[in-house]
Amino acid sequence: MSKNYSPWIHQISRTRPIVALHSDIEADVAIVGGGIAGISTAFFALRDTDKSIVLLEAGKIAHGATGHNAGQVASYFERPFHELVEEFGAVLATEGQRDIELAWELIDQIYTEAGLDIYFSRFIGYDGFSTFDQVMDHLKKNILRAAGGLKPEMLYISEDADFGKNISEKYAGFYTLVPHKEVLDRLETGKSGFIAVSEQPRGVLNSALFTEEVAQYLLKKYAGRFSIFENSKVHKVVLKDDHALLDVGTCSATVRRVVLCTNGFENLEIFNAAGLGIDTRFHHDINGVVGRMSGYIETMNKSPIAISYYLTPQPGFDDMEDPYFYLTRRAYEYNHGRHNLICLGGPQHAIPDREEYVFEYEYKDEVSKETDSFVKSLYDIDPNKKIEYIFSWHGLMGYTPNGVRRVGPEPLNPVLMYNLGCNGVGILPSIYGGKRISRILNGEKLSPSIFDPHDQR
Ligand SMILES: Cc1cc2nc3c(=O)[nH]c(=O)nc-3n(C[C@H](O)[C@H](O)[C@H](O)COP(=O)(O)OP(=O)(O)OC[C@H]3O[C@@H](n4cnc5c(N)ncnc54)[C@H](O)[C@@H]3O)c2cc1C
Repeated sequence: MSKNYSPWIHQISRTRPIVALHSDIEADVAIVGGGIAGISTAFFALRDTDKSIVLLEAGKIAHGATGHNAGQVASYFERPFHELVEEFGAVLATEGQRDIELAWELIDQIYTEAGLDIYFSRFIGYDGFSTFDQVMDHLKKNILRAAGGLKPEMLYISEDADFGKNISEKYAGFYTLVPHKEVLDRLETGKSGFIAVSEQPRGVLNSALFTEEVAQYLLKKYAGRFSIFENSKVHKVVLKDDHALLDVGTCSATVRRVVLCTNGFENLEIFNAAGLGIDTRFHHDINGVVGRMSGYIETMNKSPIAISYYLTPQPGFDDMEDPYFYLTRRAYEYNHGRHNLICLGGPQHAIPDREEYVFEYEYKDEVSKETDSFVKSLYDIDPNKKIEYIFSWHGLMGYTPNGVRRVGPEPLNPVLMYNLGCNGVGILPSIYGGKRISRILNGEKLSPSIFDPHDQR
């Protein structure tokens, strides 16, 4: 049996005491949830408005999905871009994509202003493709990106791929034919099945450590108008015309606005005393998916990287419809030494009722069979090497039905706002969401976006 042991939580050495809410409180804004979304929302709202803010966290800061993810900074949606264009139209879809890409700059702002010196590495990451359809999806994405003024993501196609010389003229400039070895070298694999590789900006960050450090900075910088209460679960939110009451066990919070940064797993009741009911649909609208991760350390002799391998179904991976694995490599302090940490993603499974998820759950096998065979067949193929997985962890993702994070006011009562719906790739969207919420709190009238919550009745 293996405990839920994440390398990100392992790196947090916290001396800050846990303070729970012990008396009734009033503030301009309550942020519910202290993951990267809640802390980023607090960062921008404190910096860009003069509002008093209270952050209420059911457990400890950064111990939710933020402390149990793959720690890869990426700006893609977990849906093909052309589907977003079909759903929202080219203009809104492109703007949504651009917003997420601009969040790279927001991370830099937070680093600079909060004086952070924790590890954050940016580089070019790779996606390896093994089927013609995967290649064509990428080329279509590039056409749409270019049409919207976004930089295309370069694609290198193997000269050995039989379709390489027959690709339609309209994709010219969006790919380059290269010797097969170049494709495999970028993917750091000897497995010949990959026929193309795309590149895009990626990074690696311990989002839990980041969240904790920013929390400490905010508590110090805005001591007069910011407080964090942990072990302070919000059980119920009662929405009135111009304020909300939050039931926090034996205490309450009265606030002008409340922002749910709960990743979707709110487990709280929402009562809209000022209008139509919100609760029922909301609770069932975000599906839970448990992602399992494992990590091992190796000598620090290679640069940081993020690689995703899109495979074709093959023996050993039979049970997976669309096999896909990813890894990141980064510098990591462990046992007083500096190593490379390799983190492997997979597998994932949906859970019908999100309340069934238990953070402490111990999986029987430390690392899944699929993950182990993946890494040994693609990346770390030395047959004599025994990989010792020192970390193995899991976390809960909340998938909105359309795979897009919800950021903004609840249409039935704007006293309630959201920055939630993790959708597997949530670090940049959470930060972007924080900035967007602060602009709304500041009274700015924003143009419609793909992130707008809609009436869920
Ligand atoms: C296995 C896995 C791998 C991932 N890999 C990546 C990746 O590589 N790159 C990437 O960008 N994203 C990744 N993600 C997604 C990313 O981690 C999340 O999108 C992001 O951390 C979400 O942050 P959050 O603040 O919205 O949620 P969380 O970090 O889950 O924070 C929500 C907080 O709300 C609190 N809360 C909930 N209900 C209440 C309540 N009623 N009262 C008070 N507090 C409450 C919870 O205790 C929790 O601390 C991954 C996620 C998982 C699970």
